[in-house]
Amino acid sequence: MTVPSRRVPVLLPYPFPGPFDYRVPPNLHPEPGDVVQVPLNRREEIGVVWDHGADDSVPDRKLKPVAGIVDTPPMLPALRQFVDWVASYTLSPPGEVMAMALRIITRTTAAPPTGWRRVFPAPDARITAARQKVLDALAAHEPRAAKDLAHAAGVGVSVIRGMADAGLVELAILPTIAPFTIPNPDHPGTILAPDQEAAAAVLRAAAAAREFSVTLLDGVTGSGKTETYLEAVAETLRQGRQALVLLPEIALSSQWLERFERRFGVAPAVWHSDLTSRTRRTTWRAVAEGAAPVVVGARSALFLPFPDLGLIVIDEEHETAFKQEEGVVYHARDMAVVRARFCAAPAVLVSATPSLETLYNVEAGRYRRITLPTRHGGAILPAVAAIDMRATPPERGQFLAPPLIAAVRDTMARGEQAMLFLNRRGYAPLTLCRHCGHRMQCPNCTAWLVEHRARRSLQCHHCGHAIPILEECPACSARDTLTPVGPGVERITEEAAKLFPDARRLVMASDTMTGPHAAAAAAHAIEARTVDLIIGTQIVAKGWHFPHLTLVGVVDADLGLAGGDLRAAERTVQLLHQVGGRAGRAEAPGRVLLQTFSPEHPVMQALVDGDLAAFMAREAAQRRPGHWPPYGRLAALIVSADSAGEADGLARDLGRTAPYGNGVEVLGPAPAPLSILRGRHRRRLLLKTRRDVAVQPILREWLAKVAVARSARVEVDVDPVSFL
Ligand code: ADP
Ligand code: ZN
Repeated sequence: MTVPSRRVPVLLPYPFPGPFDYRVPPNLHPEPGDVVQVPLNRREEIGVVWDHGADDSVPDRKLKPVAGIVDTPPMLPALRQFVDWVASYTLSPPGEVMAMALRIITRTTAAPPTGWRRVFPAPDARITAARQKVLDALAAHEPRAAKDLAHAAGVGVSVIRGMADAGLVELAILPTIAPFTIPNPDHPGTILAPDQEAAAAVLRAAAAAREFSVTLLDGVTGSGKTETYLEAVAETLRQGRQALVLLPEIALSSQWLERFERRFGVAPAVWHSDLTSRTRRTTWRAVAEGAAPVVVGARSALFLPFPDLGLIVIDEEHETAFKQEEGVVYHARDMAVVRARFCAAPAVLVSATPSLETLYNVEAGRYRRITLPTRHGGAILPAVAAIDMRATPPERGQFLAPPLIAAVRDTMARGEQAMLFLNRRGYAPLTLCRHCGHRMQCPNCTAWLVEHRARRSLQCHHCGHAIPILEECPACSARDTLTPVGPGVERITEEAAKLFPDARRLVMASDTMTGPHAAAAAAHAIEARTVDLIIGTQIVAKGWHFPHLTLVGVVDADLGLAGGDLRAAERTVQLLHQVGGRAGRAEAPGRVLLQTFSPEHPVMQALVDGDLAAFMAREAAQRRPGHWPPYGRLAALIVSADSAGEADGLARDLGRTAPYGNGVEVLGPAPAPLSILRGRHRRRLLLKTRRDVAVQPILREWLAKVAVARSARVEVDVDPVSFL
């Protein structure tokens, strides 16, 4: 009698439609979640035993066998469910989503680090005093790296080498558990003010309940939101569960990390894309084994293998940086809420300027809301005023208007710090020939080349294409006629150097200040008052506390309003309010000046009046009737192809087969604003539905009707944030 061989579905980290079946050899007993090695196209690959999706059509005898089970923590049910959910919601192949959770193991093929340990029983060898020190340092039986061991024993590395030759010590693989110390929830920390304490009590109760909930922690800039939600982290630790805090820009979170350390006595584990592979692997394992109780990270941290995740905090929940636009297109804020649900954990969304989506969920009763209405320690919010650029224009060829220049001078004369904010990197966004009108354009994209004067190059901010700054016009060959048009932060810095020659200036932009160390150094310089004037792009807007900064000048408050983006006004209000929030603390009240050509615009009015609630109510009233988000749903299809003709053809096919009727509408096809990107021609279609309609089944049915050639692509973007 032949026993039918057992088969298991294995999900591989590739964009296949689902798992593949493999045969289980009698000596192996793989369970769902186990990481296994399997053959694929004559190679060995790593995959995860999945719960479902076995393809029964392949007969047993044709199945390849599972080669082995990898000695690593299995992927737990809550993470597997999350992977399936994200794949289904975003219409991504499940293997591609799973790859984000597994990548860490598969990518680290480098030899594991090794160290020395004692050999038992000890061979008969001479034990000198130096050797005894080494043996003492190894008493813990844990292997230690040579350098580290020599240092601990106070001997030279040659002593260890001699001991290895004598057989007293041997090489072993170093343990992968990171030295994460458990944060102490009862470390003496900040004493909360009464309103902070009331909010913290709500969050503590949510963490102690050990069940899914969503809370919006909404409070003005400087109200102590961070101090407050750290209490939820503390309660999660007391519960013996793990906590995840998502920040929109983790590489720049130096001040946040310092505050965490002050509260808990130790640093948390950090997760972002700049980690070395060694740190990634160590952190991943420590998370999987529960040895890293708190992780602060970028959106990819959502896919870490927490065995018992008990809290997710999403700080600056309104930030568009939480949307991943490449590969699996997902919104980390929304997916964090889903992850929390699968883990029976509370999610806490934090912002001084909550998104309309989140406010809608509060209104609908799905999210709880707690508010911190005032700044901590009696500080008042900065006074905001508009500078009408038509009434008081800057000098010709300059960008700072006289009232702003005067305010910067006054501020510095008082010994306080000022900041000039312009959300644009480089020197000038456009270079134009004064003789023939030629504009320097990217050869691969529908975009101007941005001058970066310090680096002496013109760059495309979309594809990275760069050329040296030219002396003659490539179109008409005239010399010295190429002229920069408009400002970037470099140009503002140049203008400021002329206007305020004695000011000590610091430029903060993502291309000049890279990584946490540079950010920490900048923050310390500002805190130590070795800087008078900060000139920055949007990275200055987030989360910083500069107690001596009392003036923020917004160089171009109208910048974000151009273009027909659904959320342009909302985003501008959020960004400018956040930047303005850097000004003024308890020590000295702050001021914000907005340079604008339309001070009467509702965005400027909302900022000047400080009435964000009224502004959001107005936004809501505009979006509701047309079923725009959050009162309806959107999904974008982005068609791309090597030729315009092919892109048009495919876009037309999609247009022809578009769904319609009962709460469903398709806009387009139309050329994308970035109609050529990296040499690919792009077209867009936008599916808009009522909120009670699920877009995924409609999209699946629609996409199944259209044949896509190998050279073309259709990307799906559910809940689009960018419309480029
Ligand atoms: P938000 O996140 O709302 O902008 P933070 O939590 O960052 O506010 O707090 C703003 C500043 O006030 C920080 O420098 C913080 O250390 C300080 N702060 C807030 N609450 C307290 C408190 N209860 N005691 C002492 N300092 C506090
Ligand atoms: Zn380009």
